[in-house]
Amino acid sequence: MRTYEIPLVPGPTSVPAEVLAAYACDYGSADLEEEFFELYASAERRLQAIIGTSNRVAVMAGEGMLALWGALKSALEPGDRVVVVSTGPFGRGIGEMAGGQGADVRLLEFEYEEVCDPAQVEEAVREFEPKMVTMVHCETPAGTLNPVAGVGEVVRAHRVPLFYVDAVASAGGAPLATDDWGIDLCLAGSQKCLSAPPELAIVSVSERAWEIVDRVGYEGYDALSPWRDALDRRCFPYTMCWHSIAALDVACRRVLAEGIDEVIARHADVGAYCRRRARDMGLRLFPREEASSSPTVTALRVPDAISWPDLDARLRRRGMVVGGSWEKLAGKVFRIGHMGSQADLDLVRRGMDVLEEALAEDMGFGQGAGGSALGR
Ligand SMILES: *Cc1c(COP(=O)(O)O)cnc(C)c1O
Repeated sequence: MRTYEIPLVPGPTSVPAEVLAAYACDYGSADLEEEFFELYASAERRLQAIIGTSNRVAVMAGEGMLALWGALKSALEPGDRVVVVSTGPFGRGIGEMAGGQGADVRLLEFEYEEVCDPAQVEEAVREFEPKMVTMVHCETPAGTLNPVAGVGEVVRAHRVPLFYVDAVASAGGAPLATDDWGIDLCLAGSQKCLSAPPELAIVSVSERAWEIVDRVGYEGYDALSPWRDALDRRCFPYTMCWHSIAALDVACRRVLAEGIDEVIARHADVGAYCRRRARDMGLRLFPREEASSSPTVTALRVPDAISWPDLDARLRRRGMVVGGSWEKLAGKVFRIGHMGSQADLDLVRRGMDVLEEALAEDMGFGQGAGGSALGR
């Protein structure tokens, strides 16, 4: 497999050597050894500190999507009303997933260039009286960061039983206060800002969410219910992968050793740098307002003068890989993923130098003022 010198894909992010080393050990049975349960408890405590919660955190074997599915299936029954806030493909996708389970979905859609407006969420909540409100914190394909705190106030004020937040691409990279913002089901993954391998799904579950999960009684491989007391009973519903929990624990330890505030500041600085460089080379940010940009990923419009496959090829030839986008943004938007290990000023500086050079290739311009030729 070819690896790239400048990895800037918005997840999975590149896994640091120290995390890989924790993975590449020969461990005993995660079903039998007390040492495994202590490791799991340590990873849980560290995750709680990173996402700002004292709630139980379920760490399930799977990938980020498993968190999205498991939390919906465990908390919803057919006919339950759900207000789905969408500002992009993940937000809308959650609505389709809930609808597919028979929930009565009120889809509140915003343009992908924008973030949601809590006042409009309030209107929908007042009218529809849902059991659950869902939203996405960082809508990765659009490079935006939604105001979760504001929607959390609405949820609290209207006594909505459940607040479901996909924080897969923000947890550990953007400010996230699960308990203060009233998030009942906070979803994360191992492979974005935590920079561990892509095989763990993380869900923090509030006390009132556990009560609903118990009442719903969903059973299945992705069910949350066994996690309520799995650690206390020393009994998980399937054999856990010791390797991945060990890697996750080290990944979380690294975040906390640097300091969560410092890590968040590093993401903010690198994101601002990336946007400034993009602007200076005549590229247009996808989010309409720069303030809506996520500190973990920068979404840019593909310039008119070049196609996305061509730009992608030019970057790969130079040892750099970034993300395209998908759904209705496919071919129109490309994304620089500066999250986790990739929120590194030096790496992003080199990446933006390469991007500048790739855009200038056979165009006879490229430095700063050439912006107009890039389709502004
Ligand atoms: C990455 C991500 C997920 C998990 O999806 P995969 O594409 O399978 O990794 C879920 N939600 C958001 C917002 C994500 O960025």
